[in-house]
Amino acid sequence: MSDENAGPVPDDPREQLQEKILTDSPRLGPDDTFKFACHPGISCFNKCCGDVNIFLSPYDVLRMKRRLEMTSGEFLDKYTLLPVQKGMKTPVVVLRMKDDDAKTCQFLTGEGCGIYSDRPWPCRMYPLGLAASKDTPDGWRGERFYFLMREEGCQGLCEAKDWTVRQWLEDQGIDEYDEWGEAFKELTLHDFFETGGTLTPDKMHMLFVACYDLDKFREFVFESTLLDRFEVDEDFVEQMRYDEESLLRFAFLWLRFSLFGEETVKVKADVAEAFQGNLDKRKMFGKESATDPAEE
Ligand code: SF4
Ligand code: SF4
Repeated sequence: MSDENAGPVPDDPREQLQEKILTDSPRLGPDDTFKFACHPGISCFNKCCGDVNIFLSPYDVLRMKRRLEMTSGEFLDKYTLLPVQKGMKTPVVVLRMKDDDAKTCQFLTGEGCGIYSDRPWPCRMYPLGLAASKDTPDGWRGERFYFLMREEGCQGLCEAKDWTVRQWLEDQGIDEYDEWGEAFKELTLHDFFETGGTLTPDKMHMLFVACYDLDKFREFVFESTLLDRFEVDEDFVEQMRYDEESLLRFAFLWLRFSLFGEETVKVKADVAEAFQGNLDKRKMFGKESATDPAEE
């Protein structure tokens, strides 16, 4: 939890936002209530879909690029920005707004959001936000809480409709996004970073491609020797060819193995043996450093 004794303010914009929320916001639990309604008849309709920083998760990108029938590369080029900040530990992907004065969202139509059923997590959550402090070093789960975001000019907050937090999350289909969000956090909030680890530019790129550029990651899986070197269930391999959720699931497991050395994917016995042979040879020639078996 952040407090007055917390270290220097982080440079990563997501962490800066999180720090501010943790200190400033009244906390809401699942049964706390709030008032909100958003509909085409409201005077501010569509006014909030512009000039906003919407951070995208890998699952947001998957849903949107599929909805738009684009490759992940095309989607990233056309609809996102990849800001680079000092001290950034993992890649940041932000929805790119139009270049007009209002910086309108590219998906906004006169009738509202043009990709409504596949809109990203932050758009689903509004007017709620979610904040979570980091898990403690001894394994306790960090505190999670919701808070009400009061965007200036949002008339929806003056409407009479009551919601509990729980009802709102259910209504907005947040559950599956949260499951993917939790899986993503196993990467972005990994102990490796907590203990001061930083990724090399190559590994940062690997993380970006596997999480966000799924079509490119699919090529890597099926057009490299990767599947020869790891034990991956055959049915699951077939599933990954066509099912993007399976591919993303594998991407997360693969990254935990290749970036942090977790045993989330298993090296085939003969490959492990050959690698051990290499290690032995290195020792023989007085070279102790070994290459990662995951490296090409
Ligand atoms: S994705 Fe849809 S809901 Fe989100 S800002 Fe754009 S138009 Fe608005
Ligand atoms: S400002 Fe609030 S009420 Fe108005 S369109 Fe946006 S979310 Fe809906």
